[in-house]
Amino acid sequence: MAKKANSSNHCSFCGRSEQEVNLLISGMTGYICDMCAEQAHEIVNETFKGSAKSDMGITLSSLPKPAQIKEFLDQYVIRQENAKRFLSVAVYNHYKRILQKNLKDDVEIEKSNIIMVGATGTGKTLLARTIAKLLHVPFTIVDATVLTEAGYVGEDIESILTRLLQVADYDVNAAERGIVFIDEIDKIARKSDNPSITRDVSGEGVQQGLLKLLEGSVVNVPPQGGRKHPEQRMIAVNTKNILFICGGAFDGIEKKIAQRLNTRVVGYAASNEKANIDRNNMMKYITPLDLKSFGLIPEIIGRLPILTYLEPLDREALLRILTEPKNSIIKQYQKLFEMDGVTLTFDQEAYEYIVDKAIEFKLGARGLRSIVEAIMIDAMFSLPSEEKKKLHVTRKYAEQQLENSDHHHLRVA
Ligand code: ADP
Repeated sequence: MAKKANSSNHCSFCGRSEQEVNLLISGMTGYICDMCAEQAHEIVNETFKGSAKSDMGITLSSLPKPAQIKEFLDQYVIRQENAKRFLSVAVYNHYKRILQKNLKDDVEIEKSNIIMVGATGTGKTLLARTIAKLLHVPFTIVDATVLTEAGYVGEDIESILTRLLQVADYDVNAAERGIVFIDEIDKIARKSDNPSITRDVSGEGVQQGLLKLLEGSVVNVPPQGGRKHPEQRMIAVNTKNILFICGGAFDGIEKKIAQRLNTRVVGYAASNEKANIDRNNMMKYITPLDLKSFGLIPEIIGRLPILTYLEPLDREALLRILTEPKNSIIKQYQKLFEMDGVTLTFDQEAYEYIVDKAIEFKLGARGLRSIVEAIMIDAMFSLPSEEKKKLHVTRKYAEQQLENSDHHHLRVA
């Protein structure tokens, strides 16, 4: 075992004395300084780059099956069965495609990029982040709102891949099998699906750029991103096997779905069909047509063949979100208190109060944390310096804390 060396020894690699380095580690017969150790580490990384690392040890038998992937998602994400099933299958197939590519089979499995549609705060990003936890391929989340066409302020489409390269430690092979989650894809929609009405440069141009990535092409990526380093050398990345998962709220798309459903069911037998429509969850009737009405160009829609939706979260779902997930908000606060030796418990009525406030403030699942934070702030401030070893939160306590706290900022949704 290496241990810290004694005085007046020298690094066996560079010859520097102990006084000249930050740290000198001794081995059986020699010494190594911190700088040489770091350099050695780099050499090791460089040597194995592109070989063992790129394969990432994926074998068909070691792959989690779709049902196992979904089980994993279930631990963190409440409801959203449809999206979970589609995601699980898509990720599983993504692995299979990567494996098949190594086998040089002649039936080529094409990738199936995904689009998830659902109101903000229903769990799209959470699903993507959770999937990332169990992935053995590079994964990154990017926001479509920062994308612009080349020449405008903002980031270029290629910067999406910069992030992927960075998380892959610039291992191009690995990045080329990665997964990218593009959030807020609806923000690059045209304002109308009739291209002649508005000359909406921002949306359409970005969509064309994005199309290039989705289709699979070789893209020159600035390794540092941005345009700040015009002299930087570009890295060519083939997007053919990169899986893209897109997410967006598509505010107002329910109206378009309803319109479409209404026109379709006009006529005889209409009343019957109409009666069966679940008005509280229009999203589940979404089709690619609605994405087009919203302003995504057909070429983009064609490159996102898997369309899934997230359902709105009702009171019961919010209650479950508060306490059930593996790292639920309540569990997180209990952990914080536990580290000070304090046991934190809640009445069921306190949970219900928190959820009702989140609904009242129109904050949905996103609001739960800020409300709990407002309720717990006093206790978090004073308990660590007190003797108390228990805190039980009743509805009354929660009410008082929230009323007393300056919680008006919570109302701004
Ligand atoms: P979106 O990406 O759909 O706008 P997020 O995934 O960012 O929403 O959700 C915001 C937060 O709300 C999450 O971090 C999580 O705490 C909570 N949340 C939302 N939906 C769910 C869900 N279905 N299950 C568990 N928590 C959720």
